[in-house]
Amino acid sequence: MAERPILSVEGLSTGYGAVTALNGVSMSVSRGGICAVLGANGAGKTTLLRTLSGLKRADSGRVLLDGTDITRLPAERHVRHGLVHVPEGGGVIVELSVVENLRLGGLWRSGRRARLQRTDEVLELFPPLRERADRPAATLSGGERQMLALGRALMARPRVLLLDEPSLGLAPLVTRQIMQMLLKLRAEQELTVVLVEQNARSALSITDHGFVLNQGEVVMADSSSRLLADDRMRHAYLGF
Ligand code: ATP
Repeated sequence: MAERPILSVEGLSTGYGAVTALNGVSMSVSRGGICAVLGANGAGKTTLLRTLSGLKRADSGRVLLDGTDITRLPAERHVRHGLVHVPEGGGVIVELSVVENLRLGGLWRSGRRARLQRTDEVLELFPPLRERADRPAATLSGGERQMLALGRALMARPRVLLLDEPSLGLAPLVTRQIMQMLLKLRAEQELTVVLVEQNARSALSITDHGFVLNQGEVVMADSSSRLLADDRMRHAYLGF
């Protein structure tokens, strides 16, 4: 029997007033997988992540995390269930130091010792952050800030990480480094990653599977290699 997907989305719909942003989105994400959510501006990618993580209310449909219905839970309960969302831009607080930002990601966890230990583990994963642990986040480069956003999310030991455009505004070389880092984290931290990206080509180069959204609907779901090879799909929805 096939293993139960870690994340199942069934007929999810939501909108903003009269605007429909998601219209019956269904998708299934395998445990330990890394999948891309692609599509043009306004396709519904950010809304999908916000609805999955409880920041936006679903009008209908369900989100199951490892079989548990989390659709109606408040956002902070999603974190406790192991689903963590890194918003576009990372949400790093620039006035705080690197370590203080990391601690924010573990605040809800009880036990000071456990929190300190996790901070050390996360700093081990990101040597550039360890070197700058006490500096304000404002002094970090764009790539380092993105690392900090990832590190802060990892403080919660997520099972599923939702990442909204981690490459936004980064140079191609830094984007490649971030993508390679995701592969490493997936392997070392037993993570499942859902990656929203404008840069479809670089996302498909590291993901196993891709979902293409258009006007709030999934218009294609396939292996990343097949999506990359599909000229018609690439031209119509992915812009390359
Ligand atoms: P982008 O890549 O530009 O971020 P996206 O694929 O993430 O686009 P969403 O931001 O989820 O798309 O937007 C989906 C639809 O919902 C669009 O029609 C957008 O205009 C609309 N929308 C998004 N946020 C709001 C909002 N706060 N109020 C009203 N409409 C919104």
